[in-house]
Amino acid sequence: MNLQELTIHELSKLLKDSEITSEEITKQYLDRIEKYDNEIGAYITIDREYALKQAKKADKMISKGNASYLTGVPIAVKDLLCTKGVKTTCGSKILENFVPEYDATVISLLKNQGAVIIGKTNLDEFAMGSSNENSPFHLTKNPWNKEHVPGGSSGGSAAAVAAGFCVGALGTDTGGSIRQPASHCSVVGLKPTYGRVSRFGLVSYASSLDQIGPITKDVKDAAIILNCISGKDLKDSTSIDVDVPDYMSVFDEFEKTGLKGMTAGVPKEYLSVEGIDPDVQRVFLESKKRLEDLGVKIVEISLPHTEYVVAAYYIIAPCEASSNLARFDGVRYGHRSKESDELIDMYKNTKHEGFGEEVKRRIIIGTYALSAGYYDEYYGRASKVRSLIMNDFTQVFNECDIIISPVAPTPAFKIGENRDDPLTMYLSDIFTLSANMASVPGLSVPAGFSSKGLPIGLQIMAQRFDEKSLLKSGFGFEKSILAEAADSSGPAGKFCEL
Ligand code: GLN
Repeated sequence: MNLQELTIHELSKLLKDSEITSEEITKQYLDRIEKYDNEIGAYITIDREYALKQAKKADKMISKGNASYLTGVPIAVKDLLCTKGVKTTCGSKILENFVPEYDATVISLLKNQGAVIIGKTNLDEFAMGSSNENSPFHLTKNPWNKEHVPGGSSGGSAAAVAAGFCVGALGTDTGGSIRQPASHCSVVGLKPTYGRVSRFGLVSYASSLDQIGPITKDVKDAAIILNCISGKDLKDSTSIDVDVPDYMSVFDEFEKTGLKGMTAGVPKEYLSVEGIDPDVQRVFLESKKRLEDLGVKIVEISLPHTEYVVAAYYIIAPCEASSNLARFDGVRYGHRSKESDELIDMYKNTKHEGFGEEVKRRIIIGTYALSAGYYDEYYGRASKVRSLIMNDFTQVFNECDIIISPVAPTPAFKIGENRDDPLTMYLSDIFTLSANMASVPGLSVPAGFSSKGLPIGLQIMAQRFDEKSLLKSGFGFEKSILAEAADSSGPAGKFCEL
């Protein structure tokens, strides 16, 4: 059995039919990680005993007939989510040895269904970054080409799924951190609507933008995880009490009607973004044509405030980060500097020693922008721009059901290529930031490869709480790609060999 190819729904069937036990499959994954993860660096923490204990429990659930899709299935989680009794570093030296007393709500929900949390994946420190190069522990490499980054900040989760180090994973997305690494690693990534999934136990980066979501091998698996983690949670006042539909129902709907009757909008502003790689452009045009061939009506739409998205995001996110990260002061959690005799020095030295360069940069920007006299000029103004962006989205959804676009302007860049150039790095988030700013859901689905063999995804966005349209269109698109890959030498849909 090729672990790289196994999806959640396939493994779940094998487990239910007693073809394999969760303990056996979990061991196989742990062995594979032990053998190959030194080449990729997808994980920060693997706790064999912890994983196998959960697997044994899952096997009991299965034998009693209490299994759901996720029972016994090894799932990796980004190390920004609290796991009771297991180190949660947030990719930061300041929390290098932090062990939470509780599970994040999404972890409890996964465990309740018998999923096996197999390990904690690498990330850019506190989710700030687009390449995983901001982790102080080690680099994560793109399994498709180890000289390239896997994307970020959920690069460890995306690489783990692509390399067959888990069956599915959780990531978090504040400005693209699920969708962009999914695109760079040829896997599926879904950022739900803001409020769809509880953020309790997710260590906050920018609270008005953060969401947790699945990174998986296919669209069906994304629906399975979304079904499990969605819903109102009394422990998170920003989670919203909107009915959770059965996301798996879209696949039956698709079998009946296909994508006929759907309209996809192509924002004209996105096509004139500077610096789009020709391969990304080609794959996008092919994807548009593919959807058209599947019966989707394509219309041109306008999101007039697109040019302000990056600037507004890079005010709002650092402001919220500077406030959220104030709690890491050496008193309550994690690292405390030993270099100081006085309280103020202790604060200073703790932060100096514990935080990396990018995190410090954002704390400084955020603190400056929030300081007396500047608040209205920066955070206040950026929030007004955000309202205009939201309004753009509300308007266009009168004309279309989904919006399609590239995920990132280029395929995964080389390790080190943009590391000393934060501005280029920030600009590369242009296509993904809007979904967070407008609180709408977004999906990245594998769409093709560059001439050098690097994966390229298609982004699909929909109205708030309309994850079903994402899953349905994403599923139709994926099916068409896979059919083509099966009967020709088309590269999309193939699995990554290590
Ligand atoms: N690249 C963006 C940033 O650095 C988005 C990160 C994220 O979604 N967590 O802020």
